[in-house]
Amino acid sequence: MVATAHLVAGAFLGRKLKKSKYIVPVSFASHFVLDSIPHWQPVVNLQDWNSTTFVGVFGDVFLALFLLFLILKKNSKFFYPILLGFFFAVLPDFGLGFSLYLPFILEIPPISYFWDFHIYVHRHTSSLLGIIPQLFIIFFGLFFLLKKKID
Ligand SMILES: [Zn+2]
Repeated sequence: MVATAHLVAGAFLGRKLKKSKYIVPVSFASHFVLDSIPHWQPVVNLQDWNSTTFVGVFGDVFLALFLLFLILKKNSKFFYPILLGFFFAVLPDFGLGFSLYLPFILEIPPISYFWDFHIYVHRHTSSLLGIIPQLFIIFFGLFFLLKKKID
């Protein structure tokens, strides 16, 4: 999924769960659950990396960081839980950066187990319908994080 969907899910979980002993495993697991939903994203294989996918990926990362700023501003009492949820929900995709620049890191256990599992559960669709579940997650999460009190 796009980074923005993982970010909103992680921020929501951090805000809702509040305690790091719950936030870390649940946010980390949320990444694999969301990636298992058939979805469209700008680039799947880094061999397909070009200027169009570059703009798509960096636009997504920029939007995710902008939303993180808005979410933290609105929920300043929950700064660390939200940041923790965000970090662990997005963490598995850091492997994409490693696969591009330091691929040997992904072959070191236990990182290799998580990376293989990440690839195994990932369900991509080239259909633009694959945007719908991501939009649902983003809007649902933002609705609660920016509009409603969720204690
Ligand atoms: Zn992923």
